[in-house]
Amino acid sequence: MSTLQIHKHKIDSILRRHPWIFSGAIASETDKLKDGETVTVVDHKGQFLARGHFQHATIAVRVLTFEDRPTDDKFFIERISNAVQLRKNLQLLTDNNTICRLVHGEGDSLPGLIIDYYQGVAVIQCHSIGMYVSIKAITKGLKQAFGNKLIAVYSKSSETLPQRTDVEDGYIFGDCVTPHICLEHGVKLNIDWVTGQKTGFYIDQRENRNLLGKYALGKKVLNTFCYSGGFSLLALKNGAELVHSLDSSKKAIVLTEENVDLNNFQDKHKSIVADAMEYMKDLPEEYDIIVLDPPAFAKHREKRHKAIQGYKRLNANAIRQIKPGGLIFTFSCSQVVDKYLFNNTVIAAAIEAGRNVRILEQLHQPADHPINAFHPEGEYLKGLVIQVD
Ligand code: SAH
Repeated sequence: MSTLQIHKHKIDSILRRHPWIFSGAIASETDKLKDGETVTVVDHKGQFLARGHFQHATIAVRVLTFEDRPTDDKFFIERISNAVQLRKNLQLLTDNNTICRLVHGEGDSLPGLIIDYYQGVAVIQCHSIGMYVSIKAITKGLKQAFGNKLIAVYSKSSETLPQRTDVEDGYIFGDCVTPHICLEHGVKLNIDWVTGQKTGFYIDQRENRNLLGKYALGKKVLNTFCYSGGFSLLALKNGAELVHSLDSSKKAIVLTEENVDLNNFQDKHKSIVADAMEYMKDLPEEYDIIVLDPPAFAKHREKRHKAIQGYKRLNANAIRQIKPGGLIFTFSCSQVVDKYLFNNTVIAAAIEAGRNVRILEQLHQPADHPINAFHPEGEYLKGLVIQVD
């Protein structure tokens, strides 16, 4: 195993257990290292600091452990077992809910690894080559944790590891016909990890969708950036009078309509294929509730300013046009826009729209998307429920 030395003045963040080591912190030659290799990281005196996956990238090492221990199969089996145990403790999987996130990267001390669970099927998405190389051990961990409850393991990393041309998506254990019908808060969902966005579904909005359900009785709802219709379905299940789902992707709208049909909610639902930024400028109808859940407008710090302008415009348009007393569920999943900046942006939108706004709820990612306290970047989903007077 290769050893990498860190510049003396760059060790603080490692000592604070931040799981990312940037390329600029490394004093050793790295040209001969292979992407995905496990490396030992030492300080300028040769003292052990960490062990992790190396990659020729800005984030050069993703730390697996700050203890001097092997990162063998046993290591991965243990980490997966801990992650599964946390979800068991959270009692997330019930008769009414068969979906959860099993591994949330740094939040589960497995940086670069996402595993989502869909009623017996684990979908693995690797964001680092090191995790991709470790996939056999990860699968062993899943098999041990679930026993015969595990139907299949699907690997889906071709999108997230574009630098590797040999990464193919497919089953690495068992198989399962898609769409696979799962449940979230009692609503039926067609989940298709093969053709869907990400691992097939945006699990992170589960509790926020449930909250929308609590406000939805008798209401007219517009769900923008709807993807497969998660928010729409929870509103319909809880007695919304009418729900309109909007997405710019025709494929997403097809998924939404299939899910609406699956639950027999067709009578109260209409879908719209449109660019939400354009559509929100001049709404043809009035709504009691509007959901704004756009994709990350900024993936990097340089894009932050433009992203803020986008959030402000979107929110100002919703605030200006919603019925008096109406509610807006507004979100941002941009990692570089923190909750304070997001709140201030929504407040700026309210000023621009010239209406009184009250914050009723402050929303975030659920507990199966835990945030490693030493990795604040892991806090990405933030939202507000605002009432427009
Ligand atoms: N709210 C969804 C997740 C949203 S993901 C849920 O609960 O599952 C973001 C969605 O926004 C994607 O489906 C994407 O197709 C859509 N999208 C991206 N840009 C858009 C735009 N300009 N207008 C409308 N939809 C857009």
